[in-house]
Amino acid sequence: MYVGTISRRVDVFIVGAGPGGLACAIAAASQGLQVEVIDAAKPPIDKACGEGLMPDTLAALAQLGIDLNHASIQEELQSSSFPLRGIRFIGSPSDTRRATTTEAIFPEGQGRGLRRTVLHQLLLQRALALGVRLHWQTSVQRIEGEQVHTSRNTVHARWIVGADGHQSRIRFLAKLHKASSGSQRIGLRQHFAITPWTDFVEVHWADHAQAYVTPVSPNEVCVAFIASKKFTNIQGALALFPSLQRRLMSAPATDKPRGAITMSRRFHHVTSGNIALIGDASGSVDAITGEGLALCFRQAIELAQAFKAEDLSLYEQAHARLHRLPRFMSRSLLMMDRSPRVLKKTLNTFQRKPDLFSQLLKVHIGHSQFHLLGSSGILASLLCFITS
Ligand SMILES: Cc1cc2nc3c(=O)[nH]c(=O)nc-3n(C[C@H](O)[C@H](O)[C@H](O)COP(=O)(O)OP(=O)(O)OC[C@H]3O[C@@H](n4cnc5c(N)ncnc54)[C@H](O)[C@@H]3O)c2cc1C
Repeated sequence: MYVGTISRRVDVFIVGAGPGGLACAIAAASQGLQVEVIDAAKPPIDKACGEGLMPDTLAALAQLGIDLNHASIQEELQSSSFPLRGIRFIGSPSDTRRATTTEAIFPEGQGRGLRRTVLHQLLLQRALALGVRLHWQTSVQRIEGEQVHTSRNTVHARWIVGADGHQSRIRFLAKLHKASSGSQRIGLRQHFAITPWTDFVEVHWADHAQAYVTPVSPNEVCVAFIASKKFTNIQGALALFPSLQRRLMSAPATDKPRGAITMSRRFHHVTSGNIALIGDASGSVDAITGEGLALCFRQAIELAQAFKAEDLSLYEQAHARLHRLPRFMSRSLLMMDRSPRVLKKTLNTFQRKPDLFSQLLKVHIGHSQFHLLGSSGILASLLCFITS
């Protein structure tokens, strides 16, 4: 892996080598641009995540040259990933004796459960193969026009990208931090050694908390808990979901629990002069949508095209468009989180009308158009159910 002094002049300088920064590096380098990336941390870079890649996320990843459905990669990842067939909602709100279950199969293709560190390694390998230069344990001190002063050196860059996550320093330096109000919740992730009992991503709903389970290999599952209050520990979190607790009773944890904040946040602008923000630095949707990574990958493709056209306003418009549907999904799912009454009603509705859940999944993963959902009345009837 390349680690060395920073060159003097580059086309694109990216701060943050998480999925957003690496995807941007890959997309820009694929356009023939010279790219450098710095990160304050060093690999292996891990983060609390649900670790489920939906078919639409896989499609965006394939556009970046990483096709997880390709036979050679499938073989390579046979023991470190798991094919996913659909989504299952399991409700056990406090006032319901029997769990409510509803499920839908992805309309086309499979998803894939993949450990975050494995995904990071795949992105890193692709970036290096395209000639991207990476510098670890390096941070930005200040930016003056096209000059970026880092903890090691000064770089002249035509474009500067802030891919440095929720607490983005680049967003602050570029004065792009004006945000619409949002929400914040707390996530806790734990892997368990157990043969997956399903090839669905299971989302378990309790009052004001969710646990989602993603098989990530033939002998391991990832569980991500999310709630507005901090969990005491994994046992405390599992106690909220009795059926899941029973399943995992004798499954040993395979790593230390890892916590993270998930935010639903929208910024007024994501570009300023020659600076653009991507990934969580540019705003985010609640983790329950499972859309954070897909957004990173899609934004990267749009941003590289804007670099090529020398026009960041194209990215500003594309960014707003890309966030529209995930934001709607985030708001709807958070409505279910906040109100046990809405939660119970929605889960009962999904159970009685599984087709409604299938239609929503289709829209969620971009297989149907958002406006068609609205005009076909499905969205209207769902909103009617959950708000009446
Ligand atoms: C509990 C939880 C579960 C989630 N589940 C899913 C899921 O199932 N599916 C999904 O698609 N998304 C999920 N997400 C969202 C997803 O993890 C994020 O959207 C994604 O990590 C965003 O990537 P990023 O590159 O923008 O930011 P990050 O992954 O946060 O990466 C930012 C990088 O910038 C570096 N950095 C930070 N500050 C500096 C600095 N000053 N200088 C240099 N480097 C810096 C960091 O070291 C890091 O490597 C989940 C999130 C949470 C919290």
